[in-house]
Amino acid sequence: MTKRLTGKVAVVTGAASGIGEAIVKRFDEEGAQIVMGDIQRDLGEKISAEISEESIYVDCDVTQEHDVEALLQAAVQTFGRIDVLVNNAGIVGARGPISEIPAEEFYATMDVLLTGTFFGMKHASRIMQPQGTGSIINLASTAGVQGGLGPHVYAAAKHAVVGLTKNVAAELCRFGIRVNCIAPGSTATPLVAKAHLDDHSAIEEVEYRLKKSSPIKGRPGMPIDVANAALYLASEESGNTNGHCLVVDGGLTTGSSAEDPPYSEVLPFMRESGKTGI
Ligand code: NAP
Repeated sequence: MTKRLTGKVAVVTGAASGIGEAIVKRFDEEGAQIVMGDIQRDLGEKISAEISEESIYVDCDVTQEHDVEALLQAAVQTFGRIDVLVNNAGIVGARGPISEIPAEEFYATMDVLLTGTFFGMKHASRIMQPQGTGSIINLASTAGVQGGLGPHVYAAAKHAVVGLTKNVAAELCRFGIRVNCIAPGSTATPLVAKAHLDDHSAIEEVEYRLKKSSPIKGRPGMPIDVANAALYLASEESGNTNGHCLVVDGGLTTGSSAEDPPYSEVLPFMRESGKTGI
């Protein structure tokens, strides 16, 4: 059977951990040639060695425009083209009440989450336009589609990622390039383990907690869920999907909850009304 990404070259930032690592491994299973960028060289080189022999790892701090450009050029020099870019690198960044956030923490958070994504799209578009094809996938978050689901600056940056995705999609569609984003809910990764338990390796405990709080009973958000969404957006199956924000959160942002809804006592009546048209 033909693999879903056979013949495609994919570049992934923040590829050495969590969601990025899952995307790399999923894309590898589906036949892509992969260029991994991250600031965690040891982890990145280890994963690169585990997957296809053809994959490469490149040091890339997404806050540095030159690094991002060099990452994308490495893909072109090695494989001749770029079909997919996943702007995934991320941090939690500045936390605390709005009255207390230091300006430098605000800028540093925006630099990774928003500016890094901007650099990726800017330089990928230069390579993809002459190709006449490409798929750019940005990592947003549920904190980027609804208020109150993350720290202030993180939420601001992720809302901006959703906005930039839609706007760049409107520009690049005429060159055959699609631009979409994914908005995951809480997903069991080192980032979440560090944020909640101050221990990036406490993945099992995070998974256990997410299992209890997930809207879908007993079903925690896992990196593979996001990787499968990225696979869809990277492949030809999503050929007519552009400017879209694919939410992968078990329904959290559309009202699904692990708790009984506040109107649960009137649910039987509501169901009956639906049938009789009251
Ligand atoms: P993760 O496990 O921490 O992986 C992120 C990777 O990006 C890490 O290797 C990290 O290195 C790296 N990174 C950080 N700053 C970088 C920079 N300046 N340049 C290049 N790489 C950098 O995090 P994750 O949970 O997989 O998150 C991946 C993406 O999904 C992020 O954009 C995040 O905001 C988004 N997301 C995650 C969740 C979730 O619940 N996990 C939910 C919604 C959205 P260090 O470990 O050294 O920082």
